[in-house]
Amino acid sequence: MSHKILSRRTVLGATGLVVGGLLLDGGAAHGQTWSARRPATPDEAWAKLREGNRRWAADAAIHPHQDLARRTEVAQKQDPYAVVVSCIDSRVGPELIFDAGVGDLFSVRSAAQTIDSLVSGAIEYGPVEVGTPLIVVLGHQRCGAVTAAAHALSEGATLPGDLQRIVEALRPAYKSARGDVDKMIKLHTTRTVAELKDDKLLAPRVARRRLKIVGAYYSLDTGLVTRLV
Ligand SMILES: [Zn+2]
Repeated sequence: MSHKILSRRTVLGATGLVVGGLLLDGGAAHGQTWSARRPATPDEAWAKLREGNRRWAADAAIHPHQDLARRTEVAQKQDPYAVVVSCIDSRVGPELIFDAGVGDLFSVRSAAQTIDSLVSGAIEYGPVEVGTPLIVVLGHQRCGAVTAAAHALSEGATLPGDLQRIVEALRPAYKSARGDVDKMIKLHTTRTVAELKDDKLLAPRVARRRLKIVGAYYSLDTGLVTRLV
């Protein structure tokens, strides 16, 4: 009896080691094993982000992939499962609000997640170069950049330096939202999604269902991300 128990333990122990070996090995050396581990489809990627955000909102973050083992695992090769296009705001760091870690996300940030050709190039990189299956354009509650732009546009004021370029990028959303800043944030986010869906490099990937581009909204009050489109 005791012999049987011992044998079983030994077998389990050995299996654990083998599994551990495969996991450690997979990230660095074998693309296929790596792909199987990280979300491979747009829907799986969104589900993973959603789970992480629910943990963050519930103050139950597990801070995955933030240790030395993970750093070593992705040192030679990265294969993030999502591109997050979000604001520079100090309260919306993607790895924090999606409870993710090193090597999980391409993070593209600009004021009010406005895009121009340089930013678009950064967004294209993941889907085109490593087959990242999901792009999330993330607006957020009480966005200072959107609020400042709305104010400037309503006053007919011109902001100094390149700040005015942000204002111009937000002008279409301002017109549609008719003074409602929260509506403007959401409209600007969905407009950006539409713009990216027309991107020459991204559109064919969306058509082949290898890539999804979604718009979402982050609430500073609740910590929750909700999907807009
Ligand atoms: Zn913002």
